[in-house]
Amino acid sequence: MDTMDQKIDIKNFSLSELEQFLSGKGKERFRATQIFKWLYQKDARSFADMSNLSKDLRLELEQTAFISNLDASTVEEGRDGTRKYLFTLSDGEAVESVLIPDEGRNTLCISSQVGCAMKCEFCLTGTFRLSRNLTTAEIVNQVCAVRREAPVTNIVFMGMGEPLHNLENVIRAIRILLDDNGLQFSTRRVTVSTCGLVPEMAELGRAVTVNLAVSLNATTDELRDRIMPVNRKYPLKALLQACREFPLPSRRKITIEYVMLGGVNDTLDDAKRLLRLISDVPNKVNLIPFNEHEGCGFIAPTRKAIDSFHKYLIDRHVTVITRDSRGSDISAACGQLRGKLAR
Ligand code: SAH
Repeated sequence: MDTMDQKIDIKNFSLSELEQFLSGKGKERFRATQIFKWLYQKDARSFADMSNLSKDLRLELEQTAFISNLDASTVEEGRDGTRKYLFTLSDGEAVESVLIPDEGRNTLCISSQVGCAMKCEFCLTGTFRLSRNLTTAEIVNQVCAVRREAPVTNIVFMGMGEPLHNLENVIRAIRILLDDNGLQFSTRRVTVSTCGLVPEMAELGRAVTVNLAVSLNATTDELRDRIMPVNRKYPLKALLQACREFPLPSRRKITIEYVMLGGVNDTLDDAKRLLRLISDVPNKVNLIPFNEHEGCGFIAPTRKAIDSFHKYLIDRHVTVITRDSRGSDISAACGQLRGKLAR
């Protein structure tokens, strides 16, 4: 066995867990904040670099722990400046992250799982099944790696996987992202997107303060059951109840994502039902025109369908953004991530 396997990946600890780890070894707890700063603010790659720790502590850390890191195996850049990073993990699995520059913001879309178990009919990632959860370190290392070459201002858990299906590691990763001694993101700039795992939504809200996005995608249980199997377990009524109960800081809104599938959920009747469903949830709507991919039975909506749907909601004072399919020329758009090189 590789010695790395017996050592602890120190990037799997939240700050309070690192404090516990150190105090268990009879060390001072405040060393944890020093180590965190080295890891996340100075991007240290070895314990030897941590010059404000005693030599003894550095040596002991070296013997019991290691600092993991991700380097992008490939980076592809789209015509619109979107960059897709492919990361190969230590066991040979791979995940993708997508950096989307936009009007002074640089949003990084990160993955939480290799593959996905949710089987949404329209999503390419879903056709690969779940291979495994990412560790906490693998989640934060996507951010650490991309930050080395570009400032990252916002984080969205909208890459591969269902974040709430890997809740423990996602919560821990969020704690590191938000920590003042860690990656120092403001809670306004971190968003978790879910297909609607209802109990986990409540658990997430209890554990951390973050923005929530919900992939609604259908306005009747009949259709949602068909295109998103998760709905058979947590139907619309339960999902919207969970949205209403989610602890939002004042003036914040839940992002309702709505993938528009041509001829399936893109009529004005759908818009009308959508409006009714979300009326008592503090919301903003993201319309995502379906991005086509090989072997998928759905088609993109027409420009006309998108515009009328958008207008219907705007006219009724809903905040709506229609997402342009950023990065679609490099298969980096929503629902196009597969964790493999393009053929
Ligand atoms: N599992 C989480 C995180 C993934 S976010 C979730 O479902 O929210 C990815 C977003 O892209 C989701 O809103 C999903 O509904 C949407 N999506 C999936 N496939 C798509 C496709 N082919 N075209 C456009 N959007 C898609």
